[in-house]
Amino acid sequence: MEESKLLYKGKAKKLFKTNDLKTLRVEYLDQATALNGIRKDTVIGKSILNNQITALVFEQLKLKGIHNHFIRLISKHEQLVEEVEIIPLEVVVRNVSAGSFAKRLAIPEGQELEFPILEFYYKDDSLDDPIINGDHIKILKIATEEEMTTIKNEAHKINQLLIELFEKINIRLIDFKIEFGRREDGTILLADEITPDTCRLWDKKTNDHLDKDVYRRNIGDIVPVYQEVLHRLEQTFN
Ligand code: AMP
Repeated sequence: MEESKLLYKGKAKKLFKTNDLKTLRVEYLDQATALNGIRKDTVIGKSILNNQITALVFEQLKLKGIHNHFIRLISKHEQLVEEVEIIPLEVVVRNVSAGSFAKRLAIPEGQELEFPILEFYYKDDSLDDPIINGDHIKILKIATEEEMTTIKNEAHKINQLLIELFEKINIRLIDFKIEFGRREDGTILLADEITPDTCRLWDKKTNDHLDKDVYRRNIGDIVPVYQEVLHRLEQTFN
């Protein structure tokens, strides 16, 4: 394989430059982390599963008109994506109370929310990704008001499409985190990943966790769980 320069090493993937200026190679890692990286484990097989899951989800979103960075898979654990400037914002969409929301507001986990809500977290590990609002985003110059309007609209659209996508495989979409990037021409693009690492997915019949909470909460092994999600997606969408 061609030599390529490491651009970024995250907790779950590495990004490399390629010969094409506009394209990056993403290598998914067999690693799981929690508590902002304090807990870290090797999980053999996770890279392959997340690489395939995010590819399939991004392809389905593209078919429904959601522009995103995914180009194509190049190996079991690698894919090519369009290079964008990542906006340092974690956009969380919630349909059902869970996780930090349930804790912060004492709303029981599992309670349906009257309407989907958006939250924004400032992507900064040294600050532990604090929750922020629109004024913080403006003061910190993270994104313009126009960009925020696009991001909010896209996030709601993506939520609706993902609810429908997971519904087809008997999964309830509880919540998820997405990230957006900016192209050189200023357009906003869905980037990063959509996997069981970044979503809460509950089995429709049993309410079993089919996501990273299995690791975070020490419920069991995540590999068979992620395999189940990929298997259901492939059966319906391939
Ligand atoms: P929480 O704020 O912990 O309840 O998380 C809400 C949703 O966003 C869950 O689906 C998490 O998996 C996802 N999420 C939150 N923070 C991150 C992060 N740093 N990396 C990946 N997913 C995240």
